[in-house]
Amino acid sequence: MKSIVQSQRQFFNTQATHSIPFRIQQLKKLKKVLKANESLMYEAIYADFKKSEFETFVSEIALVYHDIDQACKSIYKWARKKPVSTNLLNFPAKSYVLAEPLGVCLVIGAWNYPYQLSFAPMVAAMAAGCTVVLKPSELPSRTSAAMAKIISENFNVAYLKVVEGGIPETTELLNQKFDKIFFTGSTAVGKIVYKAAAEHLTPVTLELGGKSPAFVTADCNLKITVKRLIWAKFLNSGQTCIAPDYVMVDKSIEAKFLSLCKEEIEKEHFSFENGNYTQIINNRNFERITDLIEPSKVYHGGDVDAEKRYIAPTLLKNVSFDDKVMQEEIFGPVLPVISYHTLEEAISEVKNLPRPLSCYVFTSSSKVRKKVLHQISFGGGGVNEAVMHITNSNMPFGGVGMSGIGAYHGEDGFKAFTHYKSILQKSTLLELPLKYYPQTKMKLWWIKKFLNI
Ligand code: NAD
Repeated sequence: MKSIVQSQRQFFNTQATHSIPFRIQQLKKLKKVLKANESLMYEAIYADFKKSEFETFVSEIALVYHDIDQACKSIYKWARKKPVSTNLLNFPAKSYVLAEPLGVCLVIGAWNYPYQLSFAPMVAAMAAGCTVVLKPSELPSRTSAAMAKIISENFNVAYLKVVEGGIPETTELLNQKFDKIFFTGSTAVGKIVYKAAAEHLTPVTLELGGKSPAFVTADCNLKITVKRLIWAKFLNSGQTCIAPDYVMVDKSIEAKFLSLCKEEIEKEHFSFENGNYTQIINNRNFERITDLIEPSKVYHGGDVDAEKRYIAPTLLKNVSFDDKVMQEEIFGPVLPVISYHTLEEAISEVKNLPRPLSCYVFTSSSKVRKKVLHQISFGGGGVNEAVMHITNSNMPFGGVGMSGIGAYHGEDGFKAFTHYKSILQKSTLLELPLKYYPQTKMKLWWIKKFLNI
């Protein structure tokens, strides 16, 4: 690990990655090699947890291609010197901000969207002019091997390197000095990464998880609400960081909401064969999720098959905040539904939990919308929509509080790997004596005048 970081530092110090044509050329090359290896990536991810080609393309590969194209188009704009106005005290001078690549970066990925969560931060780092050591999640082992193969066959270790492995390898990587660590994963491991980064004062972006609520109010368009919510929840079998974790529904429409959800699940025919459902990633997660299903609360679903690591789309009713399913992020195909009498009461219950990565509100009332959006702190989210905000790279994507630090996507991804250097460039034509000794009353008067105090 030490020699990998050393070789990347040497390469970074040559200034090669500072060149914008180099960055664009490497990003275009990455897109080309990913395209050439798409079938390898599809085979690997299907073997790992039966994710179909369609879902892999739509929810992973397409987003990476989009990020590459957007970066190639925008790097000159993002990286250009930004002039700012100069204050009177420094007159005559120019002031500007230079975008400087942070340097040698570590990207640690999560398993649920393994290609997207590894390559999208890597693309942002490349656009910013950094070198990258990428450590994908070890859980989808074939997917991780595919990424290692693609990168090692096409890129120099000193620029891009995939390190495969689990806790021991990640721990060893975290002992090295990086200029930036970008981590996607659980809040618990996020704390380990943050502590390790503190040792070297390395800046971090932490993309973590949490329990993301969805509010369904009595005045919503129930048919569309149910359709969008069920899709968002059971995409990737609920193994999505921004999936609605649980629903807060107005008591007056609870029965109708549950019955429409059941109908929608049946209509969707979620199955491995149909390509719209994935396996639970491993036995540990299978057991953890099945343990959250309290049989007496199952409204629909509840069937499980340990051998196939299959958990049917499951709706839970009469759930309370004291239930086990409400004590941790579910990260699986189980949707607890909690009814409320007043929106205020529902909001205050949600505010008792750590700040979530996402929050959704389904309503036609602007008053309700504003209440939820302004009273609850969360990473990002949607109104009458769930999950899809991640696809708009004009907005920063990230958490707040326990759901993360920092953000990325689009220009925010570039910013995550960039240091902004502020420069005051002074003219030598004029020298005002105000700051120099001796300190006179007249000088103080002028300084106050300049400062307008
Ligand atoms: P995880 O925290 O278990 O693992 C993430 C990464 O950390 C992996 O690469 C893993 O090898 C490494 N790791 C695990 N234990 C470690 C340890 N003790 N020391 C050092 N490294 C360690 O997370 P996961 O199971 O891969 O992903 C699920 C979590 O990630 C969920 O909480 C989910 O909400 C969150 N997530 C967040 C986002 C986001 O964009 N905010 C995206 C996907 C997943």
